[in-house]
This record gives sequence, structure tokens and C-alpha cells, in this order.
Amino acid sequence: KYRSSKVIRQQFLDYFVKDNDHNFVRSSSVIPFCDPTLSFTNAGMNQFKNIFLGNQQPKYTRVANTQKCIRVGGKHNDLSVVGTDGYHHTFFEMLGNWSFGDYFKKEACEMAWNLLTKVYEIPPERLYVTYFKGDQTLGLKPDIECRDIWLEIGVPINRIVACDAKDNFWEMGKTGPCGGCTEIHVDHLPSYRKVNRAKDVNKDKHDLTELWNIVFIENFRKSDGTIEHLQQKHVDTGMGFERLVAFLQDKRSNYDTDLFIPLFEKIQRITRKPPYLGSFSGDDFKRDMSYRVIADHSRMIAIALADGMFPEENKKLRRILRKCLNVSVKVFSHENLLTETIPVVANILGDTFPELHQKLFTSLDIVKYEDEYYKSLKSSLSKGIKDILEKNPQLMDLDLYEYPGFVQAYNEFKRYKKSNPYEISGDMMIQLYSNFGLDLDFIERLAEIERMTLDINGFENRMEAMKGKSLENFKVDNDIVMRLDGSIPATNNDSKYNYEYDPSSNLYKI
Ligand code: ATP
Ligand code: MG
Ligand code: MG
Ligand code: MG
Repeated sequence: KYRSSKVIRQQFLDYFVKDNDHNFVRSSSVIPFCDPTLSFTNAGMNQFKNIFLGNQQPKYTRVANTQKCIRVGGKHNDLSVVGTDGYHHTFFEMLGNWSFGDYFKKEACEMAWNLLTKVYEIPPERLYVTYFKGDQTLGLKPDIECRDIWLEIGVPINRIVACDAKDNFWEMGKTGPCGGCTEIHVDHLPSYRKVNRAKDVNKDKHDLTELWNIVFIENFRKSDGTIEHLQQKHVDTGMGFERLVAFLQDKRSNYDTDLFIPLFEKIQRITRKPPYLGSFSGDDFKRDMSYRVIADHSRMIAIALADGMFPEENKKLRRILRKCLNVSVKVFSHENLLTETIPVVANILGDTFPELHQKLFTSLDIVKYEDEYYKSLKSSLSKGIKDILEKNPQLMDLDLYEYPGFVQAYNEFKRYKKSNPYEISGDMMIQLYSNFGLDLDFIERLAEIERMTLDINGFENRMEAMKGKSLENFKVDNDIVMRLDGSIPATNNDSKYNYEYDPSSNLYKI
């Protein structure tokens, strides 16, 4: 029986809010507030971070929502796989439920299982679960409690998989709240395998996709690296909405659902190119990939602009926008497809995120402005950059226009590469970074294009050392300014001259 994405989303919220006593909390903006470590909101828990840290009292102890998430850059960077597989997007909705010191493992697993098997009527044999198998170096035992909960629920032992810390231990950061997870995966069955996935996971009979991550926050990582148990225990869950819709609509990829199809139809109608076929290999792959990229990025751009983000301020947003403009022209012979696709995104998601309608005209204005600006930049490229681009068209993906020092930097880099073909050393990174003004993200992408690795540790160590130096050299030259240690220097004490001031003449006495 067919269910639209709207119905599926509503069923999730109703299940938690109406049937299980949760409070609905609106999605927070994709612009992270009070968190300079993130470029975008990347998980449902972001807006609850302070509750987990114990700095804020929760208003409700049970909460559910659908959170707008963007995973471009940072710890979770899915940008490079977007379009190549059917289930990673730059923007996606994360459905989530939370317990702040309320229910814990048993209820969390039972609620999730009932929702999937009773409300959504997924046959249980299509579901797999994982639990944390423990980690000696962390000093943590296997989460047998979690495994037994799944057994009691009725999941057979051959569909319960023990996973290591890489996938099943969640940490907020280097220090802070953390805990083991249990994940629920769905089996798309082998018929979908070849087209759905970039790489085969489970060779013959199964095609598993991670659907839902349920984190049990019961530990705390201290600054000395050791882990202790928390008094207050929380549950933090996140389910990929587009993946859920694809599974329930019996589609081989997220792009074949009603969340994306209207976008492909619109692009096809106005460009008169062959329609989207959904290929993940073969002759149509490149065009279909471009369809996916435009559709995916249009959603991301529409959402970011509706939340008031500016491409001028967020370079990652600008880069994605420019990539869309390039693909528009090159693949679809259209100047600026975004002006056509963003209104479609508003139609698809506007009921859930009304800001898409409210900000639509502003967003379109920004997109037009960015297009004009980009064109003028391209037409005024220096001869040096044009020459480099001609020889290395793949560098087009870097926003060279933003870096006046690029030509010189690139020549220097090429010289370096001749004798060091595989790695950009910490020293070289420092040179590109501080002498030529390339930012770290740019250097990372350059390395990717040039198929080189980066000595990030070397770079960070050298940066640390330089920071230490510059602090040592830092001298307070204004007497009234507080010293770094908080003390205030006595007037004139630091001066080798002891002039006395005469207020009547407004001069110093010598
Ligand atoms: P994956 O291993 O598939 O990359 P993840 O472990 O990075 O997913 P989580 O951080 O656990 O993802 O996020 C919770 C859920 O959000 C995932 O189980 C998945 O369903 C969904 N999700 C994560 N990243 C994406 C993405 N880029 N696009 C769409 N859905 C995603
Ligand atoms: Mg991931
Ligand atoms: Mg994962
Ligand atoms: Mg996960």
C-alpha cells in the first residue's frame, strides 16, 4: 500500500507525540547557534547539546521532531558521495525522539521496533539490529543488556550484530557525554543491490542500509581520556527520513521517492533532456548523476537560504551553489536551473518547513545575484589562472577566483610535487596556508584532486608551535590593558622612561 512522504513523516510524529507522550519540538535552523565548531546543523541532537552537557534543564523529558540536517564539511562530510549512491544527501531530514533522563534502553528499543513493524508494517525479517560490542581500550564492556532487549523483543540472534566503537560508540566531542549505540538496518533484498549502492556490502542475499541510530548516553569522557558513568542517562535517536520513505515506498533509492521525482520532472520539462532513469552505472550514469546532484543540492540550497544563510558568509554553501550553476550549463544547457528547482523544493517541503515559502523570493534573488557575480568572476579571470585551468580542468571545482595568490601557490606546489608525489607535508601545508592564504578546506580539496594525502598531524603540530610563539611575543604596550594572567601593570612601571606629566602645561616634564 502506497504512502506519501507526508503521511510517513506525520505517522512518525503522531506515534511519538500522540501515542507515546512526547513533545513536538520544531526543527532548529541549519545555521548552528552558539557552536562555532560546526558549519551546519548536522544532527537532531545539536539543539539539545546543552541538556546533555548538563548546562540546561530540559523543558520536557520526552521530545520528538524532524530536524533539518546538512552534512557538508566537518566530521560528517557526505558531499563527495552525493549522487554516486542512493542514500547519502547533503541535506536530509533526521527524524528523532529523545529521552532526557526519562526512559532508557528497553523502552527506546521497544518504541522503535513497534513503530517500524506495527505502524509502518515492515516485515520483521527485513530488519537487522546492531549493538556495541565493547572496547578494551575504552574500558567498556559489551552491551549485553541491549542485545538481550532485542532478543526479548523477538529478533533472532542471527539478525543481531555486534559492532565496534567506530560505528557503535557515539561521542559528542573529544570530551563530554558519550555512549554505545544500537542501530537498525533495513534489508532492500538483492534485486536492488546493483543499482542502489556504490559498493556491494553483503554479497549475495542482502542489501542493508542503516536506517536508525539509537544512542544510549550513559558515559562521560573526561579530559584525561578516561570514561566514567553518568548519573543522568539520556536517549538520543536519529532516523534518516528519505531512507525510510524509500524503503516504505519500495524504491531502490531515495531519489525514486516523491521527495525527489517532481524535481527531476521539472528539470526534464524545461531542459528537454532525456528523463531521469535512475542509473547508478552504465551509459546513463553521468546524466543521471547530474540529475541527482542538482536535485540534492537544490534542496540543500533552498533550506540554507530559507534559514537566512548567505553564500557570502558560508563558503561551503557558495561552492555548492556554484557547482549547481556549472552543472546546469554544462549538462543541461540551462543558465541557472536553481531558479526553477527551488520553488519545487518549496512545494515538496513547504508544509513541513514554511520558511521555504516565506523566504522564496529572497532566496531566488540571492541565487540570481550569485549567478551574475559568478559569471563576472569567470569573465575576469587572470591569464595565469586561465592557463592553469586549461591544462587542469579538474581544478575548476576549486573557487580559484577567491584566492589572488593561487597562481604563485600552484607553481610552488607543482615544484614541490615533483619530488614529493604522494603527500603534502605539514611544512608545505603551512606554506600554502600562511604564505599564500589558501584555507585548509581548499588545501584538502587540492590534495584530493591531485591524489595526494595530507600530513594533518604535522600541520597541526606546527600550527600549535607557532601559536605558542606568537603568545610569547605578545606584549601589552598599553599600560592600562590587563595582562594575560589577569594582573594589571602599575602605571609606567614597564617603561624605561620616567617622565612626569604636568596637567597645567599639558606636557611632560623632562
Ligand atoms: P551512514 O553510516 O549511512 O553514513 P551515519 O552513521 O553517518 O550514516 P548517523 O550519524 O548515525 O548516520 O545519523 C542517523 C541517521 O541519519 C542514519 O542512520 C541515516 O539513516 C541518516 N543519515 C545519515 N547521514 C545521511 C545522509 N548524508 N543523507 C541521508 N540520511 C543520512
Ligand atoms: Mg555517515
Ligand atoms: Mg553509520
Ligand atoms: Mg550511525
